[in-house]
Amino acid sequence: MPFSLLKYGLNKDYPFEKHADLPAPAELKSSYDVVIIGAGGHGVATAYYLAKYHGITNVAVLEKGYLGGGNTARNTAVIRSNYLTPEGVKFYTESVRLFEGLSNEFDFNIMYSKRGQLTLAHTDAAVRGFRQRAEINRHYGGKTELIDPQQIKELVPTLNMNPGHLPVLAGLWHMDGATARHDAVAWGYAKGATQRGVELHQLTEVTDIVVTNNRVTAVKTNRGTIQCGCAIQAVAGHSSLLAAKAGFRMPIQSYPLQAMVTQPVKPFLDPLVSSPSLHCYVQQTGRGELVFGGGSDPYPLYNTRSTMDLKESLLAHAIELFPFMANMRLMRQWAGLTDMTSDYSPIMGLSPVENYYLDAGWGTWGFKSTPICGKTMAELVSSGGKVPELIQPFSMARFDSFRQVNEMGATAASH
Ligand code: FAD
Repeated sequence: MPFSLLKYGLNKDYPFEKHADLPAPAELKSSYDVVIIGAGGHGVATAYYLAKYHGITNVAVLEKGYLGGGNTARNTAVIRSNYLTPEGVKFYTESVRLFEGLSNEFDFNIMYSKRGQLTLAHTDAAVRGFRQRAEINRHYGGKTELIDPQQIKELVPTLNMNPGHLPVLAGLWHMDGATARHDAVAWGYAKGATQRGVELHQLTEVTDIVVTNNRVTAVKTNRGTIQCGCAIQAVAGHSSLLAAKAGFRMPIQSYPLQAMVTQPVKPFLDPLVSSPSLHCYVQQTGRGELVFGGGSDPYPLYNTRSTMDLKESLLAHAIELFPFMANMRLMRQWAGLTDMTSDYSPIMGLSPVENYYLDAGWGTWGFKSTPICGKTMAELVSSGGKVPELIQPFSMARFDSFRQVNEMGATAASH
């Protein structure tokens, strides 16, 4: 151990780190150039890029709860770019690239850990689909290949290659698969934004949106009305509720999505493993716990309760993949709210209200896109509404013109 680290560890008086925390909240002003609704990763990332790269700092991020306490706090932190469509692959690849540099950018450790992601194919149809995904990924710069059962066995020796009725035929090996500490991501962006003058107001709920002549002029909150030059909604599981306040409907249905975690055990699983056919994915955290997730609940609902149904079905499948897990203890189960679109892609960009911008439709796939969403939303706002090329395919208008970006197959139980 380096001597300086030992000295630091044994020292009672830790050196004061300037800006170690978020600055105390300023008084809520009556007007801002930009109001961002929602302080999840996406909201604070947008504020960060606006302040750092576009010099726009008269910005308020309004959060009804606390920083990063929504889906950002509840997700399983899978980061990957092995999607199916060229539009999706390009977008998520750019996000992974930004994630890789984020600890350096913040000078703050987001615990980014590149471990690779393995998706299992149990049917011939899945093998065909994976082959196509691997090709498209490679074409757009991703590191993804189809591997055979022998290679899978070498990567994950503890995996049961014959889970009941669904033997493992092949795998999609995505070398860029990674995880990061979700609250560190939110805090890194929030600190970077507030240090540059952005105001973060927690416990501030937007209750209504004032639209005059098809432009948003103010938002009403539980702490009073705030005038704004423009507004961005980044409220994940509440997108259609907020859009209704601005006077339009979104093609979204909201479903609970659950996850769970076990007691910690010795490290045995480096890659993230997912099985779309068994509706299950598993990863081991840096602390040794196993995190499990699956598909959204089967009915739309605004509720974040955990269910016994999901626990039974998800764990039954996880134990098929790793039979020895039957002896482990489950420690916690929780849920978030996912805004699902019919093509499993986000809705980003312009809305029917001129200066009201959308960062929505984040379903089960929005953590990995946090950096690229912040970056592109900031470009959109700073240009006064010019939609960056990367997010043009995700406009809400695509649902009127049948230009959907179908990522359903590449999303199932892999998050
Ligand atoms: P959030 O973090 O939800 O932030 C939105 C904020 O808006 C909230 O804090 C909320 O309180 C606030 N808000 C809402 N309404 C108002 C209002 N009226 N006024 C003010 N504030 C308001 N994605 C991945 O990429 N990988 C994964 O592995 C993954 N796993 C997941 C597992 C689970 C169990 C869940 C639930 C989701 C998962 N996701 C995953 C999806 C991911 O969590 C979300 O897409 C992402 O966190 C969305 O980030 P956000 O900043 O847009 O939203």
